[in-house]
Amino acid sequence: MTANTVTRSVLDAKIPPGPLQDKWSNHKASVKLVSPANKRRYTIIVVGTGLAGASAAATLGELGYNVLSFCIQDSPRRAHSVAAQGGINAAKNYQNDGDSVWRLFYDTIKGGDYRAREANVYRLAELSANIIDQAVAQGVPFAREYGGLLANRSFGGAQVSRTFYARGQTGQQLLLGAYSALMRQVDRGTVKIHPYREMLDVVIVDGRARGIVARNLLTGEIEAYAADAVVLATGGYSTVFYLSTNAVNSNATAIWRAHKRGAFFANPCFTQIHPTCLPETGEGQSKLTLMSESLRNDGRVWVPKKKGDPRPPDQIPEEERDYFLERRYPAYGNLVPRDIASRAVKAICDEGYGVGPTGRAVYLDFSDAIRRLGVDVIRERYGNLFDMYREITGEDPYKVPMRIYPAPHYTMGGLWVDYNLMTTVPGLYAIGEANFSDHGANRLGASALMQGLADGYFILPVTIGDFLADHRPDGLTTDHPAFRASVKQVQDQVKRLLSINGKRTARDIHRELGRVMWDYVGMSRNAQGLQKAISEIRALREEFWRNVKVPGRADEFNKNLEYAGRVADFLELAELMAIDALEREESCGCHFREEYQTPDGEPLRRDDLFAHVAVWEYKGEGQPEQLHKEPLIFEFVQPTQRSYK
Ligand SMILES: Cc1cc2nc3c(=O)[nH]c(=O)nc-3n(C[C@H](O)[C@H](O)[C@H](O)COP(=O)(O)OP(=O)(O)OC[C@H]3O[C@@H](n4cnc5c(N)ncnc54)[C@H](O)[C@@H]3O)c2cc1C
Repeated sequence: MTANTVTRSVLDAKIPPGPLQDKWSNHKASVKLVSPANKRRYTIIVVGTGLAGASAAATLGELGYNVLSFCIQDSPRRAHSVAAQGGINAAKNYQNDGDSVWRLFYDTIKGGDYRAREANVYRLAELSANIIDQAVAQGVPFAREYGGLLANRSFGGAQVSRTFYARGQTGQQLLLGAYSALMRQVDRGTVKIHPYREMLDVVIVDGRARGIVARNLLTGEIEAYAADAVVLATGGYSTVFYLSTNAVNSNATAIWRAHKRGAFFANPCFTQIHPTCLPETGEGQSKLTLMSESLRNDGRVWVPKKKGDPRPPDQIPEEERDYFLERRYPAYGNLVPRDIASRAVKAICDEGYGVGPTGRAVYLDFSDAIRRLGVDVIRERYGNLFDMYREITGEDPYKVPMRIYPAPHYTMGGLWVDYNLMTTVPGLYAIGEANFSDHGANRLGASALMQGLADGYFILPVTIGDFLADHRPDGLTTDHPAFRASVKQVQDQVKRLLSINGKRTARDIHRELGRVMWDYVGMSRNAQGLQKAISEIRALREEFWRNVKVPGRADEFNKNLEYAGRVADFLELAELMAIDALEREESCGCHFREEYQTPDGEPLRRDDLFAHVAVWEYKGEGQPEQLHKEPLIFEFVQPTQRSYK
């Protein structure tokens, strides 16, 4: 087979047989092992140092593999995971409110609107308890109850409290734990870290992933690295919407370029829009700020009953307020899942009941909770989130309600992986938000950290051994022609970007792309809008390659160049997102197709036609991608119409 081509037509999810509860244990017992003495002879590249990548690199290093770790930031611990606020789920049932592995499994399957694999989700729920133990042992300072046990709060889509948290900085504290474990391995010599490197290509030799090509972001040098396997842990792509809650540097480049090398892309259109973000304020904004969903435990969401009511919130009497989530979804109230809450917030604003200068916001009000629990309890639970809100808006949420509006937040789509977390390219793995994940069409709050850490600490380190045991180290180096070809291709693209010298900045084009995405591929979609989006994205992509201006040089630190490459990839991925959304003629989870809704405006799923993962194969520049379908078979839960009423 020629370098950098791969052919694999069949999707085999490799789900182990047997009872749901035993699948992972049986699988672990049956996978091949690499002997301790042989592990150091293998090199594994892990791209990304967020919770998924850092936990994987640390664990693989601890096992004795030779690990090369890469990230685009100056330090692994500045990965975007640091921003996660609210918490991490685990079925520990400390407060005896009826939680169990089964319930967490069930809530996740249901929350994802029956578009996730049962076996993966069950394993995730099963491993959730191990994650907490591991993090505690690392010293992660989770909140504790009076008696010393770890405290829990609830999150959307669950009727039990199973979310472990460290005030509003859970991601940061977990990442510090994983980072400490990583640095321990750096000290032992098993992991070598490469900050300020951007992976721009994956190198395929004889149908296997054998390395990467990266740009040294400080010097501009294009570097190649060889390995026995490559793991992508490069996070999510919701910055395709330009404004999102993700870090500005979050991007799709690594997974998109891997896609173009043969890794199939699953469910690209599934983007979670988070209900509790700060409303957009103006053109100059580069990101949107999230207010953790945990706030909906004590904050009540409402709008005035009268359209365009100009009175400040404290002058609107109780009977003139519409607590619309509590009204429409009495069982779950303010804690309905994110897709439901986001749509309800947008709908009420579209009807003209929104508040604030733009009318695109609703109140998240803590006055009842403060009266009931006292300000100290609220400060203890959410103090840093309140401080953050005050710093950004100048308003004191202890005194006036927050104003919130939905924003793109998390991408359930990503590289398709089998049960072993391997993509369709042998030896290429994807973990954390970079893979198409265990969340189906909608992710429940506090489950991303859980999935990233389950992948990195517990799953990948087992399953990658199974692959490596069959592929002995063969001394391949970056002298192989496939590396030289890939380096040249990357260099050519850099040259091309710098030579266009047009009139529009990459940011400007990205902003326009974001607008198209939000308007037509955002919270709700219809066939006409999606077709319009596809043609607008194509036109914008054509304009980008004709008219973008990228200042600076290739052989220097050049933020504009980095950014332009990422926007180029977004312009391709965006089209696939719209095509995928057009193809899926049903409403499920985050994907609300206006043509498919119940008479009372709830999403209408079509299990007979769409109970599958939509998996796309790249067929070459300018060619339509080919759609493959992985059927979702529900053996253990019966898909039902989702109801939170
Ligand atoms: C504001 C906010 C709050 C959140 N709160 C919660 C929460 O409370 N609970 C929860 O469960 N989830 C939460 N999430 C979601 C969760 O934070 C993310 O899904 C998760 O952290 C993703 O982890 P990751 O390791 O997959 O990727 P990331 O943490 O995004 O890490 C990506 C890594 O890849 C590297 N990288 C990217 N591209 C390249 C490249 N081309 N070359 C080299 N390196 C590259 C980056 O440097 C980085 O190290 C939140 C998300 C946001 C935005």
